[in-house]
Amino acid sequence: MTSAEAAPFSLEPGEDIRQVRDWVHEFARDVVRPAAEEWDEREETPWPIIQEAAKIGLYSLDFFATQWLEPTGLGIPVAFEELFWGDAGIALSIVGTGLAAASVAATGTPEQVGEWVPQMFGTADEVKLGAFCASEPDAGSDVGSIRTRAVYDEAKDEWVLNGTKTWATNGGIANVHVVVASVYPELGSRGQASFIVPPDTPGLRQGQKFRKHGIRASHTAEVILEDVRIPGRLIVGGKERFDERIARAREGKRTKGQAALKTFETTRPAVGAMALGVARAAYEYALQYACEREQFGKKIGEFQAIAFKLADMKTRIDAARLMVWRAAWMARAGHDFANAEGSMAKLMASETAVHVTEEAIQILGGNGYTREYPVERMHRDSKIFTIFEGTSEIQRLVIGRAVTGLPIR
Ligand SMILES: Cc1cc2nc3c(=O)[nH]c(=O)nc-3n(C[C@H](O)[C@H](O)[C@H](O)COP(=O)(O)OP(=O)(O)OC[C@H]3O[C@@H](n4cnc5c(N)ncnc54)[C@H](O)[C@@H]3O)c2cc1C
Repeated sequence: MTSAEAAPFSLEPGEDIRQVRDWVHEFARDVVRPAAEEWDEREETPWPIIQEAAKIGLYSLDFFATQWLEPTGLGIPVAFEELFWGDAGIALSIVGTGLAAASVAATGTPEQVGEWVPQMFGTADEVKLGAFCASEPDAGSDVGSIRTRAVYDEAKDEWVLNGTKTWATNGGIANVHVVVASVYPELGSRGQASFIVPPDTPGLRQGQKFRKHGIRASHTAEVILEDVRIPGRLIVGGKERFDERIARAREGKRTKGQAALKTFETTRPAVGAMALGVARAAYEYALQYACEREQFGKKIGEFQAIAFKLADMKTRIDAARLMVWRAAWMARAGHDFANAEGSMAKLMASETAVHVTEEAIQILGGNGYTREYPVERMHRDSKIFTIFEGTSEIQRLVIGRAVTGLPIR
């Protein structure tokens, strides 16, 4: 049976997906949204909200794993859209661990997945976080130029990590950190590996915590690694597999980047879904406002100028959702991303979120520009989606290369 037969075409989510959507929506509406303004102003990790999410099983390895494995591929996009509809900063605090968990789940050995991923989440009584640390001050889009070094100490069977990571979501406050480091700098990204740094490992500490434009409830910080020693078995995927990969790279076999690129195509729709949640929240707010606010004796929604904005906002949101769902379905069904459809979905949804939230401010006029109304926060929050997990320019590079086959720079 082909994958197409297994998942016949339909745009109607099944009962399981609808249940997840409604359940997450309820939590977003009743718990996340009422807390959004407070945690945005506090600029702190909203631990009590994460605990609430853990109590109902929403912040749990079980929930994430079930949704990732959901047969249509829509589990994660639908859940993320609802959660981020509630509030992006709080939602990112809830799903940020997922990035670290996914990096180990995707390429780790079964033992590594079983031992470390649960420790990233903790328990409902004692909630923990995970952090994925790839970016560095001089290596953002250009991940191949990472300078953090991992040196193998054969006598002790330990890895020794040194370097400075930046922009790490949950960096320094996580229980488990996954750190990307270079073992063989001369091989560029092919000489890199990820390493699991267990809780309370000496030498790992938080550096500067960043004060941000948006998603201010989500903790973003530098992570400093000074002679961090971890057991040899904590190289993600195992040392044997890494050594084989290095041998192939030295023979000049060009496996470079293929697997990593495919992984990005499968994870980017999830980021698109986050952006979609923010866009939809701003659109709904602006729509209601336009149907109530009166000027010149009419509801402002009766002015074509405002109605056309709403029409465009809704059209772009729906177009972005279709692209996110298509890419998520492709990932689940194991299709090749011949035209970088995952990157397309992320590009479309993130640019839509910035546009729609800006238009929402315009529809609210002066009110939209103040912190008395939520669209101002949504606009600030939306901007991150065109930056992290690959900037919009990088998405266009990836799509451009995929469609032309040319080495576009
Ligand atoms: C709030 C937040 C949370 C984050 N969380 C994490 C995390 O958890 N873990 C992690 O590892 N990282 C994280 N990041 C880092 C994020 O992924 C990077 O910021 C992003 O990859 C961009 O890198 P940069 O900031 O160094 O920008 P740069 O790479 O310096 O880019 C600057 C500008 O140049 C453009 N540019 C760069 N290269 C090219 C090119 N070849 N062609 C065209 N234009 C180009 C970019 O598009 C951008 O407009 C986070 C960042 C933020 C802001």
